[in-house]
Amino acid sequence: MKKLVLASNNPGKLREFQHMLAPLGIEVLTQAELGISEAEEPHVTFIENALAKARHASRQSGLPALADDSGICVAALQGRPGVYSARYAGDNPKSDRRNNEKLLHEMRNEADRRAHYYCVLLLLRDADDPQPIIAEGEWHGEIAHEERGSGGFGYDPLFWLPDLGRMSAELAPKEKHEISHRGKAMRVLLERLSN
Ligand code: IMP
Repeated sequence: MKKLVLASNNPGKLREFQHMLAPLGIEVLTQAELGISEAEEPHVTFIENALAKARHASRQSGLPALADDSGICVAALQGRPGVYSARYAGDNPKSDRRNNEKLLHEMRNEADRRAHYYCVLLLLRDADDPQPIIAEGEWHGEIAHEERGSGGFGYDPLFWLPDLGRMSAELAPKEKHEISHRGKAMRVLLERLSN
């Protein structure tokens, strides 16, 4: 497989996938550059949304499609924002800045700051592939009290890594891939693919 379509319009995710897949000689096309609309994500589980996105992109493009459905799950908020992470503060338009402000506000009185990122990756060889390749990854940390750092995307300026003494947004891309939910899921996916 030399070319696949990424079933996402998220520029942060796209950067990370290009970084991870370019060394393997896999060209990642975005659905936007192929003129494919964004799929609906009506489901309450990450895996169902990933399948919906990958199938839509593969059907429209005729190419293998990779979908990432991911989010941040906060213990004190009973797992929210979870599957709604991208549109936590609304989706007209989606805004990382407003999402982070809302998360800080919801957490203002919480002493328990534990949170984890979750990512499921799903690869369809074609739209009717009966055996999608699926891989998951988690990354545990805490929600900080204020934003710091300019790397990454989304909630990274608030995702505190106590063991490293840094925010996710303070990691270089390579460092993030080595430990992140997406990096972990990608290594599992590539191993399954090679099998
Ligand atoms: P999706 O596009 O519906 O899968 O939503 C993913 C959302 O989860 C993103 O828009 C971010 O808000 C959040 N998210 C997922 N992975 C990351 C990450 O690596 N860093 C920061 N935020 C992330």
